[in-house]
This record gives sequence, structure tokens and C-alpha cells, in this order.
Amino acid sequence: MTAIRKEGKVNENATLIDFKYEGAAAVGGVYFVEAGKTCLIDSGCKDGAKYIIKSLKTMNKFPPDYVILTHSHWDHSQGLPIIRRAAEKLQKSIEVFASKKAIPLLESQTYNEILKKIKFENITDISPLKEGDSIDLEGLNLKVIDVPGHNLDHIALYDEKTRNIFVGDSIGIKIDDRAFLSPIMPPNWNESDYLNTIDKLKQIKFESISLAHYGYIFGEEAQNILHESQQIFELENKVYKIAEKEGKLDDINYLVELAVREMNPIIPDLKLENFFMRSILSVMNSIRGIVRKKPITVGDIMLKQILETKVKGYKISKGIRW
Ligand SMILES: [Zn+2]
Repeated sequence: MTAIRKEGKVNENATLIDFKYEGAAAVGGVYFVEAGKTCLIDSGCKDGAKYIIKSLKTMNKFPPDYVILTHSHWDHSQGLPIIRRAAEKLQKSIEVFASKKAIPLLESQTYNEILKKIKFENITDISPLKEGDSIDLEGLNLKVIDVPGHNLDHIALYDEKTRNIFVGDSIGIKIDDRAFLSPIMPPNWNESDYLNTIDKLKQIKFESISLAHYGYIFGEEAQNILHESQQIFELENKVYKIAEKEGKLDDINYLVELAVREMNPIIPDLKLENFFMRSILSVMNSIRGIVRKKPITVGDIMLKQILETKVKGYKISKGIRW
């Protein structure tokens, strides 16, 4: 179990910004990195871009010189068109980088429909990156490391000066000390790539690790999270295997029950920032109160939603129709 920090500056060069994933605080983040040049690592989702722009404007740092996308999933890329347009209004342009493998996926963002049923905006004009490249922020270099598994285009960025590594979603989704899920995700999940990624990251002597979902970890605990990631992957894989054997891969309530039993997650009390969503949940819970049912939390809803999505990643990788 690793203690995760969820606020403020990772170090003198890097700041965590909350983009309020699905309207909830401390679930999805991007990192702002500054030296002589400034850079944003990931761009959040469409609804989240306004929070990123607002935070950067408050810091007097909008627009950044660069944006680097760790991978092309919607909640890392769909904020980009909005951030770009806000920069254009100020007659500024931002250079955007991503893995060269991300370019076709960014140009055709509909592949994200398996993850979320919304309209996606395609993204072009990306400078391609490959393993070993460096992004020079004038006084700080971000080294590009391929870390596939979660998605085929995933990169990590290693800052050799502060020895902090930005890993996006490559090692999993950890939103609290006891709320950790594996990086299994459709449609491009690749188990052996993921295991190689963990081995590769173990060779790097980083001092802190910065996750997209959500926060950063220091010291020995930062190294330990790679081991923890592998453990949680094995447990989650076991959940799907049991469900598959029982012929219940499509039974979401059974999957949640199994995940709670095998993985024992403790989901933090997630605060909804969005008034509309907060109202819906409160109406739902007052109805449940009348019929004497336990209130649903934001964490319950998110766990159910994410498992419903993640199981498709497992199915695709096993050649099972989803
Ligand atoms: Zn992702």
C-alpha cells in the first residue's frame, strides 16, 4: 500500500492540476511542467479543459509552450482542441507532441466509443515522438519512454533532473491508497506489453512517480508501486477468470461483488463538483432511503462503470466477443 499525495506541487518544476473527471474531484489530473519553457502533460477531457485553462491562467502560465499526450484515450486528449482554441484567441499556438503510434488514433478518435458514448473531436497537427527522444524545456529534459500495455501508444516522460516520472495510465488507475485498479482497458490492452513495461520501469531509478489517476508518490513507496501494480493486475485478472469460468463476464453486479471480495478496494468519499450530478445522486438516494436501501456513493457508481468497461479489455485480449 502506497501513500498518494493529491495536491499541489510534485517538485519545484511540476504541478498537479485536477480536471474534475466526470465532475468528481481528485480522479483525473494533468501535470504542468516548467523550466525555461512550459509544458502540459495530457490535456484532460472535453469537460475538464476549462479547469485546466483556469488553473493555468491563475498561475499566469496560459498557454503553455507545449502539450505532450501520454496516450490517445479521450480523457487525456479531448481537452486539447479546447485548449488549442483558447490559445488561438490569444494569438498563440501550442506545439503538441505524442508517440508516433498515437497519431492515427488521435486522427480517428471514434475508437474511444468503446470507452465512452460521446462525440469525439479528431486531433491532427501532432509532432511525433519515439523512444529515447527528449523534450527540451530549457533547464529540464523530459525523456520519452515507450510504456505500452494499457494502450499501444502509451509513453512515459522521465525528468532526469528531479527524477520524477510521469506514467499516465500505464501502471494502473490508483485514486487512493486502497483504491487501485489495473491498467486493463479496451480496445488495445496487451498483457505481455504491460508486463514488459513494468520490468522496464523497474530499471529506472526514479524518486517520484506521477499518475494521471490520481496523484504522486515519493521515495521507496514510488518504487514499490510497480510491484503493487503487478499484484493488483493479477488479482483483477483472477476476478475476470473466475467470472469467465462461471459464464458471468456480462453480469456486472457479480463482477463488482467479486472485485470487492478479491481486491478489497476502499474507494474514497469522492466529492461531486457538478451541481447537476450532485442533485441527481441526492434524488436517487432519497428514493433509496424510502425503500430502506443503502445510499449509493459516487465511488460505487464509478467502480461499476469502470469494471463494465475494463472487462471488455479482458474479453478482447482473450478473443471473447464483447
Ligand atoms: Zn487511458
